[in-house]
Amino acid sequence: MDTKYIFVTGGVVSSLGKGIISASIGKLLQARGFKVTIQKFDPYINIDPGTLNPYEHGECYVTEDGMETDLDLGHYERFTGIRTTRHNSITTGRIYKTVIDRERRGDYLGKTIQVVPHITDEIKRRMLRVPSQEEAFDFVITEVGGTIGDIESAPFMEAIRQLRWQLGRDAVCVHLTYVPYLKAADELKTKPTQHSVKELQGMGIQPDILVLRTERHLDDSLRLKVASFCNVDLECVVQSEDMPSIYEVPVNMQHQGLDAAILRKIGIPVGETPSMKPWRDFLEKQRNASREVHIGLVGKYDLQDAYKSIRESLNLAGIYNDVKAKIHFINSEGITPENVAEQLSGMAGIIICPGFGQRGIEGKIIAAEHTRTHDIPTFGICLGMQMMVIEFARNMLGYKDANSAEMNHDTPHNVIDMMEEQKNITQMGGTMRLGAYECELREGSRAAEAYTAAVDSSLFTLRSSLTIKERHRHRYEFNNAYKEEYEQNGMKCVGINPAADLVEIIEIPEKKWYIGAQFHPEYSSTVLHPHPLFMSFVKTCAEQSE
Ligand code: GLN
Repeated sequence: MDTKYIFVTGGVVSSLGKGIISASIGKLLQARGFKVTIQKFDPYINIDPGTLNPYEHGECYVTEDGMETDLDLGHYERFTGIRTTRHNSITTGRIYKTVIDRERRGDYLGKTIQVVPHITDEIKRRMLRVPSQEEAFDFVITEVGGTIGDIESAPFMEAIRQLRWQLGRDAVCVHLTYVPYLKAADELKTKPTQHSVKELQGMGIQPDILVLRTERHLDDSLRLKVASFCNVDLECVVQSEDMPSIYEVPVNMQHQGLDAAILRKIGIPVGETPSMKPWRDFLEKQRNASREVHIGLVGKYDLQDAYKSIRESLNLAGIYNDVKAKIHFINSEGITPENVAEQLSGMAGIIICPGFGQRGIEGKIIAAEHTRTHDIPTFGICLGMQMMVIEFARNMLGYKDANSAEMNHDTPHNVIDMMEEQKNITQMGGTMRLGAYECELREGSRAAEAYTAAVDSSLFTLRSSLTIKERHRHRYEFNNAYKEEYEQNGMKCVGINPAADLVEIIEIPEKKWYIGAQFHPEYSSTVLHPHPLFMSFVKTCAEQSE
């Protein structure tokens, strides 16, 4: 079958959950046996979100091939299990850069370079995934970030208009809008939706399907009203009510026939509704997991989205361990030796979060000392692992001034140091150790045990159960000059990158669960396959709080 294209746009306000709807459509089509990919186009000028402060756009999600991307790609992967690549995340900055580089090379043969057609052609090329380096897809779902009417999204809308004209029935437009509820009038208002659709129509795009985000149930008369005002079939107006969990959204969309409506629009026989059994089993488990296990997130960004994948990985691991992971953000900037016991009290375990720069690191080190000496399960991720290493050097190896070269360039005991290859780099964007690298696990280690216990460990391992592949995003590394001392004093280096002999995992085996990973396991946790390290960590936390 020729590739079909689905465009997902949003109107009225931002943050409606286009990413979740796109991921749900992906999941539903996948369940029907189609090969799907989902890509995100962001209208901002940054080349990628890698240089953005998490307060701006939440976490930066990293693909296996080392692209720093928008956190929506995390939803795509968690929902569908597909592995995204650099082709799945495009920004206005990347589009312009490609066109400008081409212009500098003289590829346009003296032509005047304009938004239409040069920028729009480049957008179209990427929306169509031409030239396609990958396998063929049955469906390419393209989510466009931002809200229609934004100045910066106009070229994307123009590209969609042209593609719809060119592709005819092979392209479908899904538009997500908001239906506010006015408490004083006790009424749901469809006017903003009508305006949003008018705006789209003004740009030459007639949406095929409308997804109405709403906090209250919309009855058929309201749906009919929207359908008739917006030139959309009634069966193509679906509602996305607030759900107790985002993972309920795909089945809710299936129940309303969103996937069937898409297939009908394209002209593909709808056939039987897939049972989605594994997914429904997961939802059942989620509904039943009621015992709360309290887990502290020791970090510096007090924002839900800043540690999105870690939060989701904990949630998923909780559900599969039949508990509800109750996550408490603990700001590391406020942690002192005097208050650490109180700040961490009631936590069955803590995550020491990733991050960059000096702010809040002393609090992370104090937390690592407290949990090590009180044997509270601790999982350090990237910077978190580095802080565990520094704490151990200061308090167990006797190097009171131990530090990371990132924080103190001149520290005499740089237990975390910059990699040689990184030393001459002056640019910030895209220059870290990024993407998936191999790691050999030490047989008999806690980490190896965790991976072996995974239901489908082959998803996380290569060749043998002791070789894993995990995603990275950092500049600094464990300094091998100290490795022997760590080993002798009880902190074991149990995961090593074979090509560069870099330490990827440390653990203190005699503790209940004290493991640090230089990589980011949170990026590869999915709904149907939670990550082994999170599974093992949450299991230990759950046993603790029984
Ligand atoms: N700042 C640290 C480094 O660059 C850790 C990065 C991270 O936590 N992602 O090595």
